[in-house]
Amino acid sequence: MPTAIPGPSAPTAPTASAAMGAPASTDGPTGARPPGTGQRDLAALPKAHLHLHFTGSMRLGTLTELASTSRTRLPSSLLDGDPLRVPADHRGWFRFQRAYDTARHLVDSEGVMRRLVLEAALDDAAEGSRRLEMQVDPTSYAPFVGGITPALEIILDAAAQATALTGVEVAIIVAASRIRHPLDARALARLAARHAGDGPGQVVGFGLSNDERAGETSAFAPAFAIARRAGLASLPHGGELLGPEHVRDVVSALRPHRLGHGVRAGEDPALLDAIVAAGISLEVCPASNVCLGVYHRTEDVPLGALIDHGAQVALGADDPLLFSSRLTDQYEIARSQGLDDDALAELARGSIRASLAEESSKRRWLAEVDDWLAHQPTWTGSGTSVTP
Ligand SMILES: [Zn+2]
Repeated sequence: MPTAIPGPSAPTAPTASAAMGAPASTDGPTGARPPGTGQRDLAALPKAHLHLHFTGSMRLGTLTELASTSRTRLPSSLLDGDPLRVPADHRGWFRFQRAYDTARHLVDSEGVMRRLVLEAALDDAAEGSRRLEMQVDPTSYAPFVGGITPALEIILDAAAQATALTGVEVAIIVAASRIRHPLDARALARLAARHAGDGPGQVVGFGLSNDERAGETSAFAPAFAIARRAGLASLPHGGELLGPEHVRDVVSALRPHRLGHGVRAGEDPALLDAIVAAGISLEVCPASNVCLGVYHRTEDVPLGALIDHGAQVALGADDPLLFSSRLTDQYEIARSQGLDDDALAELARGSIRASLAEESSKRRWLAEVDDWLAHQPTWTGSGTSVTP
């Protein structure tokens, strides 16, 4: 953990606004090779999924079924299966939040909560995930199950069951919201602390989500201190909607183990250097960045620049329900930027190393990544290939 994060330096990387609409970088990421050669099945690549929100993980089919059962009329924008696309401003966030809230209102019982956890684990299992660290703010579901304590305990129990059923380790991150009072965050941190642990069905970290522009970052520091004293990792969002100045605030006030997104730290190389030196990993969610208007196109997400700078990156889907893009899709985006299978395997290793799993589990999954890479793919001649 750094003792100090350097002040602003002259940005040499493009700002997010400059990056919008800019052509894809011609500086290929480390290990780039022409696409189409030696490509393995990315769904079979062992990986960890470290940035996924509880309601945002919902399957579209589940959403429509729940809406039908409760006779709720859903906006067509939620049903069409197209990714949400909003500008990176307050109005854009409002549209995103309204869509999210529509889905959240349908999660109104213990049964639905358990279903969501299990389906997220099943979907992760199908995409090669060995470890899912899912974020939830139990406050939203508390009214339906008798309070935030039962809300969290239901989710933790469901996570333990989903682990047993799918083989994917499902651990939970309790996330406070920037749009609520910091005292609420402290209450959540105390609740999270009571369920702290390392394993599946336990709380492994404490987060801070919602609009990065809301609230005063330092006001949430006491909540993170409570969580830290209980051994929980510090996992706040930062560096998606706002740039280096905000990332610097989050790093110094909340002392993160990982940054939710953090992608815009790349706009200030000195800051990124400090983040890399401090061992802070970045949970990069390319589809989310584009859907929320931070970058125009997936090729503009500066994955290669972050990797070349030494950042440890864990790709995540964030809210696949709204972005129509799941975990493997993020690796496909990385491949489309020119990362070859060696570089994609290194990304998967980064996700595993950045997870909060036990070291013995990490060693096993890292060996499985080596196995994935050791098997030469079979060329199908159709532009795709399969791993035997
Ligand atoms: Zn998020």
